[in-house]
Amino acid sequence: MRPFSYERPASVAAAVAAAAQRARPRTPPTQSDAQFIGGGTNLADYMKLGVAQPERLVDLNGLDDPGLRRIRVDDDRIVFGSLVRMSDAADHAEVRRRCPLVAESLVLAASGQIRNMATLGGNVLQRTRCEYFRETSWACNKRQPGSGCAAMDGFNRQHAVLGGSDQCIATYHGDFAQALIALDARVVVEGQQGARTMAFAELHRLPGDTPNIETALGPADIIVAIEVPLGPWSARSRYLKIRDRESYAFALASAAIALDMNGDTVRHARIALGGVATVPWKAKAAEEALQGKVLDKSAAHAAAEAAFADARPHEHNAFKIPLGKSTLVRALLETRDMKV
Ligand SMILES: Cc1cc2nc3c(=O)[nH]c(=O)nc-3n(C[C@H](O)[C@H](O)[C@H](O)COP(=O)(O)OP(=O)(O)OC[C@H]3O[C@@H](n4cnc5c(N)ncnc54)[C@H](O)[C@@H]3O)c2cc1C
Ligand code: SF4
Repeated sequence: MRPFSYERPASVAAAVAAAAQRARPRTPPTQSDAQFIGGGTNLADYMKLGVAQPERLVDLNGLDDPGLRRIRVDDDRIVFGSLVRMSDAADHAEVRRRCPLVAESLVLAASGQIRNMATLGGNVLQRTRCEYFRETSWACNKRQPGSGCAAMDGFNRQHAVLGGSDQCIATYHGDFAQALIALDARVVVEGQQGARTMAFAELHRLPGDTPNIETALGPADIIVAIEVPLGPWSARSRYLKIRDRESYAFALASAAIALDMNGDTVRHARIALGGVATVPWKAKAAEEALQGKVLDKSAAHAAAEAAFADARPHEHNAFKIPLGKSTLVRALLETRDMKV
């Protein structure tokens, strides 16, 4: 273990100030030599592996703002404080009733112990599980820019078929983020310039030529809240996750769906795909394909074809394209048939 300093500020402003005292630009996703700790379940793991090497840790768990730990359900939205634990959000009766997709994406993630510890802010910023990223002896453009990508010609069964580049094809593995991007959520961020709100869709960056820069956050930006809009689509929503085993495993393919229906006809579909892309993946082409259509098997298959039209397989992950399509078809039809 490398030496590091530890601070536990009492206010968001003090945490921003602590993170802003940077020595030099450093580790993604915050591009800082300081890293925040939420639950620590991702960060501590990567520090032990030598992948994350922060010089300073800024622990968010001493922050005194009660809004950071609160879930507020209004008529038109749910607001989650960023220090809310995954298990508290997953078990929240109003969240489950008003928008089952959100609760399901959380309860199907990780293990009970991890969900009790992990925060929503840390969850959306979890880093990839690419085996070559996690093992520091391999070439990895995300960990060491310019070093190459061992996954391209390596064992890439877990890797992405959507959103990849010549530099990186690592999958974004989180589940909650798929619900958030499907539902057009927003994140509230506090940083050196004060507070701002951004679309969740703007938070994660495609790998492109700089896979080491994973998010749009600045060095001292703290996610303080996540807002999920509610509307006619929220109750008819669900998360379907397909994995190697039924518990404690990341998605090979998943689908986050919310449907606003007029009888059998889709007014508007909100769709995201997990396990198959480098970032939380809004399936816009599938949403458009369903607009104004009767949602039957044939329309669901057409939407799935549209969703994967730009997919690029690699040696071991071509199976994700038919798996992703059938996951989406099943999720669409099951969501259509929900009794709401
Ligand atoms: C074995 C295993 C299985 C798992 N399976 C799944 C799964 O199936 N699905 C799934 O979605 N996840 C899964 N996870 C990941 C798990 O959900 C994450 O580790 C967890 O959600 C991270 O939250 P945390 O609060 O512990 O983050 P931390 O480890 O505290 O932080 C993660 C990152 O976010 C930054 N950060 C934290 N909070 C903030 C904030 N408020 N503002 C700005 N930056 C912040 C940190 O600096 C760090 O870079 C699994 C993890 C393990 C170990
Ligand atoms: S896929 Fe991305 S994270 Fe994995 S080895 Fe290649 S560059 Fe690194």
